[in-house]
Amino acid sequence: MSADFHIRRLCIIGVGLIGGSLARALRKAGCVDTIIGSSRDHQHLQRAQALGVIDDYHTDMRQAATHADVIVLAVPMGAMGKVMAAIKPAITATTVITDVGSAKQGVITQMLTVMETLPAGFVPAHPIAGTEKSGVEASFAELFEQRRVIITPHAHTDPRASAIITNMWQHCGAKVTTMDAKHHDEVLAATSHLPHMLAYALVDTLARMNDRREIFAYAAGGFRDFTRIASSDPQMWHDICLTNREALTQILNIYITDLQQLRAAIERNDGEYLKATFNRAKAARDQYGE
Ligand code: NAP
Repeated sequence: MSADFHIRRLCIIGVGLIGGSLARALRKAGCVDTIIGSSRDHQHLQRAQALGVIDDYHTDMRQAATHADVIVLAVPMGAMGKVMAAIKPAITATTVITDVGSAKQGVITQMLTVMETLPAGFVPAHPIAGTEKSGVEASFAELFEQRRVIITPHAHTDPRASAIITNMWQHCGAKVTTMDAKHHDEVLAATSHLPHMLAYALVDTLARMNDRREIFAYAAGGFRDFTRIASSDPQMWHDICLTNREALTQILNIYITDLQQLRAAIERNDGEYLKATFNRAKAARDQYGE
């Protein structure tokens, strides 16, 4: 982490949970002069300014991005292409541009479609931090402390741009690692996207049962912990599933096969199979879990 790191003018498109938390964290670290916000809704931006998260805003994204040294795209995955097209005229040879999208290959493809060649200043990134809440009101400066941020530079990313984005996240207290975009999408499909599918499917299955009131009334701590992420924003998860379709369907297939084997073991009264599975899982959780 460079002690003299400084961003003169930062533009954040999408001042919600992630964009708002990034703005708060950088402000707290004292390493940014001016933060300009942008999104679709004037009132959301007004609120972000009133909270002190951003200094100024424009609903015209191109205007917001003009003269920015660093542009952060913190909008839902499905909106990235539209936003890139809107700010394209503001991107110069020296602009550093990054995003926070939860799947990386999709963002890179959208950038390539819009720009025709990937800008040297483009550093795709993904903070592995979040909550089930949305919007600037839910943002807080400590969100990224001790959390990982994965950057997935493309073949022609300028190392100086990667260093700026690495420094930016380190000043938010994050630990930055570099990964290939395809590998990122496979890892995140397994560790984040699959668990969200399980939580959504479980809650939806139970919510459609006749005795759902009783089921939820008796739900204890374990159920609450496991299903908390089913409160996450449906639009955001719609976008993530469709953007990371290939890796997510692959890991879902593996999981469905394993679940079917578990069901078959229960049906045939195969206690050995069950104990072996649970012991393996417990050992792995005890070894890798925090
Ligand atoms: P959020 O709280 O809902 O914020 C999204 C922001 O994007 C809002 O400020 C919204 O403002 C703006 N926006 C939405 N559609 C837009 C459009 N078409 N054009 C311009 N602005 C638009 O969502 P978030 O949780 O911060 O997620 C943002 C990104 O971070 C997503 O790509 C997500 O994959 C990624 N991410 C999320 C998490 C998490 O746990 N939440 C973790 C890591 C990464 P307006 O309504 O005013 O337009």
